[in-house]
Amino acid sequence: MRGPDFSRLRWRLLAANLLVAAAGAAAVAAGVWLAAPRAFEDAMGGMGGMMGGGMMGGGMMDPLVRAAFGDAVGTALILGLIAAVAVAVVVAAFLSARIARPVSDLAEASARVARGDYAGRVPPAGGEIGELARSFNEMAAALEATEQRRRDLIGDVAHELRTPIASVRGYVEGLEAGVFAPGPDAWRVLDEQTARLAHLVDDLALLWQADSRDLRIQLEALDGPALLADARDRHRTLAEARSIALVLGEVLPTTVRADRVRIGQVLDNLIGNALRYTPAGGRVELGLRAVGTEAIIEVRDDGPGLTPEQAARVFDRFYRVDSSRSRDVGGSGLGLAITRSLVEAMGGTIGVASPGPSRGSRFRVSFPRA
Ligand code: ADP
Repeated sequence: MRGPDFSRLRWRLLAANLLVAAAGAAAVAAGVWLAAPRAFEDAMGGMGGMMGGGMMGGGMMDPLVRAAFGDAVGTALILGLIAAVAVAVVVAAFLSARIARPVSDLAEASARVARGDYAGRVPPAGGEIGELARSFNEMAAALEATEQRRRDLIGDVAHELRTPIASVRGYVEGLEAGVFAPGPDAWRVLDEQTARLAHLVDDLALLWQADSRDLRIQLEALDGPALLADARDRHRTLAEARSIALVLGEVLPTTVRADRVRIGQVLDNLIGNALRYTPAGGRVELGLRAVGTEAIIEVRDDGPGLTPEQAARVFDRFYRVDSSRSRDVGGSGLGLAITRSLVEAMGGTIGVASPGPSRGSRFRVSFPRA
């Protein structure tokens, strides 16, 4: 694909300026030709009156004076025209540097983007074209980031699928070859691995929906303390099984503007993680308070905690602090990425703070109060 030829734009700018200069000169010439002799005669007549007749007779200009006047006006017009052409050329060169070059850079860069090469940027320029160049660079950067995320996602998904698929295939081949006897052990492994695959696919579908704002979100005024009490009740059995105290801490009466189902999912993910990663004998506490127009929910645990680097990455897709431990407890590495997408889809924000490794984590979600 050939880009547009911008040397033509330069010539067009020059032609337009010359045209303006020529039209200006023609208008001035016409005006001078029509109005100047009469104005000159009137002026000379006035002076003649003052000087007692002089070179005028009966109000008519002497032919010699008229010819001299015509020559003078003609010379002045030609000099003016030359000056106008010079100015037109200089202005055209200036405009061409200010417009034609940046426009040509933009056209080349957008042709590259259209071919799927998002790395190119256009050099900065001044004025409105500079604004356009800046917007273009921002758009190219956003497209580049999206493309990078898409590539990363495909790589991550392929990597995540490989292990359970290899494991299922290995088992099926072993069964076929008679290496394993069909029986409860084989069915359990196959069941676990296919469940892991199904879980991963469900998580990916949910993340995709939340990221593409394709979720049905129905925001309503919800009773905050009731939400936390329900979430605690849903996890009570699991907490008891893991010998972890799951308690309501300071829970102040506050309404929360959120989607009932999705906020339930957010709390389930955060409490589920706290119960998974906190060792037996630990404590998980839920809290709720209002700060200004925000309702702030906290899920605190006294588990392994996070370093600042880990805390900065836990909401990334497929990020796990300890991969083998997360996989052992059935983690897909997508839980917090989904949680963040759900929170943001409801207009909230989420963050985590940890005083350091082994000193617990504090996940904080804030929603507008209803
Ligand atoms: P996973 O499916 O692995 O749990 P998540 O996205 O839910 O994935 O969490 C990402 C990682 O963040 C986990 O693998 C774990 O290492 C860390 N993490 C999450 N919650 C906690 C917590 N309450 N305490 C310590 N680490 C946590």
